[in-house]
Amino acid sequence: MKDAKIHLLDKTFKPYIPHDRIIAAIDEVAQRINADFRGCKDIPVVLCVLNGSIPFTGELLQRLDFNCQVVSIKMSSYQGTQSTGTVLKVMGLTSEVRGRRVIICEDIVDTGNTIVALKEMLLDQEGAADVRICTMLLKPDVYKKSVKLDYVGMSIPNAFIVGFGLDYNELGRNIPDIYVIDE
Ligand code: 5GP
Repeated sequence: MKDAKIHLLDKTFKPYIPHDRIIAAIDEVAQRINADFRGCKDIPVVLCVLNGSIPFTGELLQRLDFNCQVVSIKMSSYQGTQSTGTVLKVMGLTSEVRGRRVIICEDIVDTGNTIVALKEMLLDQEGAADVRICTMLLKPDVYKKSVKLDYVGMSIPNAFIVGFGLDYNELGRNIPDIYVIDE
């Protein structure tokens, strides 16, 4: 990981989680998912929550050893460095999930508004048979909802981060390591 701070628009970020630690966390999450789904007779849906989860879903997918189908959806709740509290579906499901088991792949769970709204929508409106939540990162100091997070890669303190898919106003998603805001 490069030691230098980075600048995105008006903000400065410092190195936080190196790429190899992210990959180690994804290895562990994949092992837990494989233990639960290996040998399944159905074809579970791996749901990529665009755009932040693209790198995470891509890495996770290569480690899953059962037949699965990738579907995407785009939600939005963040503006700049703050959650707005309102979850919007920006782009619908790229394929139907009725009657299917779904594993949601999320980059980060903060307030949980997005993931809880998405799980409810998949079960109540889209007719999914079962929904599990898999998140690369969790901010446990912020997440106060009772909905179970089935697979969590890493827990982090409450600070705004970028990199490995996570953005600041759409910038920083392409950075392989994770950086934290330097205040
Ligand atoms: P929640 O609905 O759980 O409050 O927020 C979930 C979404 O907000 C994530 O999918 C992500 O897009 C965004 N988000 C939450 N925390 C962070 C953060 O620290 N950095 C970035 N870049 N996005 C975040």
